[in-house]
Amino acid sequence: MKKKKIAIVATGGTIAGSGAAGKTTNYEAGTISVDEVLASIPDIRDRVEIVLDNLFSVDSNEIDDQRWLILAEHINKLADQQDIDGIVVTHGTDTMEETSYFLNLTVNTLKPVVLTGAMRPATATSADGPFNLYQAICLACHGESYNRGVLALFSNTIYSGRDIEKVNNFKIDAFDQRSLGCLGYMQDQEVYFYTQTSKIHTIKSRFNKRIDSIKSVAIAFYYSGADAKILYDLASDHEGIVIAGSGSGNYSQAWLKAIEELSEKGTIFVRSSRISQGIVFDDEIFDPHHLCISSNTLSPQKARVLLMLALTQTHDRDEIREIFLQY
Ligand code: ASP
Repeated sequence: MKKKKIAIVATGGTIAGSGAAGKTTNYEAGTISVDEVLASIPDIRDRVEIVLDNLFSVDSNEIDDQRWLILAEHINKLADQQDIDGIVVTHGTDTMEETSYFLNLTVNTLKPVVLTGAMRPATATSADGPFNLYQAICLACHGESYNRGVLALFSNTIYSGRDIEKVNNFKIDAFDQRSLGCLGYMQDQEVYFYTQTSKIHTIKSRFNKRIDSIKSVAIAFYYSGADAKILYDLASDHEGIVIAGSGSGNYSQAWLKAIEELSEKGTIFVRSSRISQGIVFDDEIFDPHHLCISSNTLSPQKARVLLMLALTQTHDRDEIREIFLQY
């Protein structure tokens, strides 16, 4: 049988990190080539044709909107090549949840696009990178991975790029999907899908055409006694603000007053929650005039990604509200 051809786009992160031999902490992310990680996966090049593309070598905290645009365009170009069957993106775990959602909205292909990374550097004892990369390659080769949206693979578990979140900053099983579970599991190279996202992605996304720049959106974290000045300051240089509210997307009367005044001047607000479980719906008490858009199940950082893209097309609140329901 003809070998599948997978492009690996390396962006850095701990999977390409190195430090003191054997140690799991105090290392530098993005310092070695993914080629070295591949070398520790037995026979991989005998089974799969791999093209390796070292796009960035950075800690994922250096991934910003400019790099997102470059990455999305790069993946779209690779996906257009007929002989490429799937794409794996190696990425730092810290901001993987934002990049995976951005790509889920902007990549225009049915072909599998799978993000993976590692919690331990390549030089650690029992580094988790090689196994995650191995499974991500197998997932990208698998027929059932087509048209599922951007995927992420970590610790035998298949996640949706829309819903994956980093939930542990220490353990190697660091990801989850809130109460939405996961899309499936892997046992070595075997793929077992059980569910799929019902939200719009990739080939059906209204954001999958070339984008030159995205809009500035900030996140305002609400805490007891938080000064409403935070909102006025942020509104001076951002078109949109995502509120990471308490509970179900809540805040003080002072924040409500600021939201009302700033909305009048054109700032677009999204209400999300600093709580990682649950859903944020429209609310008569905290948003009596329906000025805010509810994030639904999106975390503040994912809601920011969607609002940045939505603002490239419209400033109409009702249209953006609809986008938040669909994506
Ligand atoms: N700081 C690293 C990064 O996000 C953490 C990791 O990859 O696990 O690049």
